[in-house]
Amino acid sequence: MGSKRDKPSRVTSDVDLTADGKQFGYLSVPHSRNDSAWGSVRVPIVVAKNGDGPTVFFTGGNHGDEYEGPIALLKLARSLEASQITGRVIIMPALNLPAVRAGTRLSPIDGLNMNRVFPGVREGTVTQMIADYVYTTILPHADVVVDIHAGGKTMSLVPCAVMHQLEDKALMDHTMAALLAFGAPFGLVLQELDSEGMLDTAVEDMGKVFISTELGGGGTVTTDTVGIADSGIRNILCHFGLIDETVITPQARGLPATRLMHTPDEDCLVVANDNGLYEILVDLGREVAAGTPIGRIHFYETPERAPSLYKARRSGMIVHRHVPGLIQAGDCLALIATDYDYS
Ligand code: CA
Repeated sequence: MGSKRDKPSRVTSDVDLTADGKQFGYLSVPHSRNDSAWGSVRVPIVVAKNGDGPTVFFTGGNHGDEYEGPIALLKLARSLEASQITGRVIIMPALNLPAVRAGTRLSPIDGLNMNRVFPGVREGTVTQMIADYVYTTILPHADVVVDIHAGGKTMSLVPCAVMHQLEDKALMDHTMAALLAFGAPFGLVLQELDSEGMLDTAVEDMGKVFISTELGGGGTVTTDTVGIADSGIRNILCHFGLIDETVITPQARGLPATRLMHTPDEDCLVVANDNGLYEILVDLGREVAAGTPIGRIHFYETPERAPSLYKARRSGMIVHRHVPGLIQAGDCLALIATDYDYS
């Protein structure tokens, strides 16, 4: 995509992906600026490798205001020893480091969304160069990619592992098995509004297993959502044979099995048409019928004006809610999912 892929990435790294053992290192992304003439952005990377086996690539901080991924992956990076695995684990706990540093979804350096710039641009901005390095240098080594997201400051979701409906049946089966092994309370087969430029799409187009998550949101974590990330990461390593132990299912922990859901049509999405104050009428995780009022938008500058009422356009469960009290036309107010029978 306009990138001179015959030349190596402009990003350099001090880790050797082919060496056995555990290494902590950095990608150095050139970033000359007024306060640092020869400066770079250093994005952490951790590699643990032992012998021959599959490679799992874990990413967190793709969006900088989602915290389960970075927290769980920092714990994994410190606790995992190469001798405990067969294969290779590559961890980038803060993929869009400038965004993580700022606590924002997008990078404050170039205003870009990491999850819309893949496959990256070699001669691009910081976010585009990180994506280019990941695409050209890490993804070719990976068999499985797990990108840990949450809703960020403006969204909250029921804790779920996420995959897409894939045309390749064998890849769909392998990905579904990984999604169920992750062991989140919900498994969501998501219809993306805009899948171009996503890390997801880049990996899927390589024919590799990709799963992501949406573990809560609101720009913070809970004990439950971090726990789901911790156990999901471990389960993925067991499922793909890097750790010689069995997957611990939700049932084994006395919890219900992963409830598989999907968003089959655009009626699942409820979008705001007004600017105002958002009053939620049905909480996250509740079931609704088509036509159920789920929210109101109040007009604080015109008290005589009645609030607008938003109704569910189909039956199902509320799996996403808008978080801030303020809402604007075009904001996604709610997402409704229905049970998915995968066979
Ligand atoms: Ca996200």
